[in-house]
Amino acid sequence: MERAEIDCVVIGAGVIGLACARRIAQSGREVLILEAEGEIGSGISARNSEVIHAGIYYPTDSLKARFCVAGREKLYSYCAGHGVTARKVGKLVVATASEQIPALQKLMEQARGNQVGDLVLLSAAEARRLEPELSCVAAFHSPSTGIIDTHGFMLSLLGEAEARGAALALHASVERGWMEDDGRVTLAVGGTDPMQVTARLLVNAAGLGAQAIARHLQGYPAGRIPPLHYAKGNYFSLSGPSPFSHLIYPMPEIAGLGVHLTLDLAGQARFGPDVEWIDQVDYDVDPRRGDAFYAAIRTYWPKLRDSALQPAYAGIRPKIQAPGSPALDFRIDGPEVHGLPGQVHLFGIESPGLTSSLAIADEIAARLGL
Ligand SMILES: Cc1cc2nc3c(=O)[nH]c(=O)nc-3n(C[C@H](O)[C@H](O)[C@H](O)COP(=O)(O)OP(=O)(O)OC[C@H]3O[C@@H](n4cnc5c(N)ncnc54)[C@H](O)[C@@H]3O)c2cc1C
Repeated sequence: MERAEIDCVVIGAGVIGLACARRIAQSGREVLILEAEGEIGSGISARNSEVIHAGIYYPTDSLKARFCVAGREKLYSYCAGHGVTARKVGKLVVATASEQIPALQKLMEQARGNQVGDLVLLSAAEARRLEPELSCVAAFHSPSTGIIDTHGFMLSLLGEAEARGAALALHASVERGWMEDDGRVTLAVGGTDPMQVTARLLVNAAGLGAQAIARHLQGYPAGRIPPLHYAKGNYFSLSGPSPFSHLIYPMPEIAGLGVHLTLDLAGQARFGPDVEWIDQVDYDVDPRRGDAFYAAIRTYWPKLRDSALQPAYAGIRPKIQAPGSPALDFRIDGPEVHGLPGQVHLFGIESPGLTSSLAIADEIAARLGL
């Protein structure tokens, strides 16, 4: 069996692992990225809304708020500098009944607390001037919300990491690990070419696999591993041209942002994600969930025709809180939590993880002393 020694191992080639690998490679460390699947970015990063969030919703000073606002700016400038397509299409958050107006205003205050200062409150008539088919009693416009070519972004991150000497191993599933006497970690890697890798630094960015990795790492205190709950988000696509040029969001729900309309870079509309708590990974979209989509969408787009929606795809949020419980923050657990030197483990990196990725990578580098 092959044995290797390296400065740093990053587990997971999703948007978070790739952003971390690039950042660590740029600070002059050798990096090996271990990815269980046969290609990069086929997990959560391939199954999301591809929205660059402004940073409106999250509690002030939470990691989600800080990384989203900082990450959004980093992301727009990265995309501009690296030929990755991103577009600031803007979004409208809509109140569809007068009882929702206080919550809409509260959301604007929350955004201000998060240093998102560019929101504009709109009357129903002003909102309709922007989007004639929209039905609402009030709305606000977020001009700094946008959309991104996520896969293009991940390819670009990988290219930059590799240009600084990082290596990617595909079909390389981390099975377990243990600590050496000198404080380094050794990982047993299965898959097509089983190997053992010893590293001084470790970043666990395995998304839905992060808890399993911590569980199979000798010395990781089991009581410090957060639970993992799968909150599936289903999407339906709209046949025909999009009636809207902005993203349209209803008021947020407890476990998600509500069934919203997003646009892909070709201008095609899709709706979702809803929230379906599941016990096992399963990406099939049940067409019967469409009924609830029609009802939700018609609260802000009454002209939605019958049979206009088709099941599209689904993603799974790696929730660390149980169904029905209030949202928790990202968990970025260093030695102060688990006691293992040189290791950072990321849990619960749900939305806005894509938007936050470059800011998270900077944080990881700082935590590793780079
Ligand atoms: C429905 C939905 C909508 C979302 N919408 C948005 C949005 O619009 N904007 C936004 O900013 N964020 C959004 N997000 C969040 C965003 O997609 C995630 O935060 C981000 O993609 C997480 O990336 P990741 O690298 O942590 O995980 P992943 O992309 O899942 O990458 C983890 C990788 O680790 C690999 N792996 C797992 N176990 C092992 C192992 N044992 N060994 C080796 N490799 C392993 C997996 O194969 C995978 O490739 C959304 C998420 C969901 C689910």
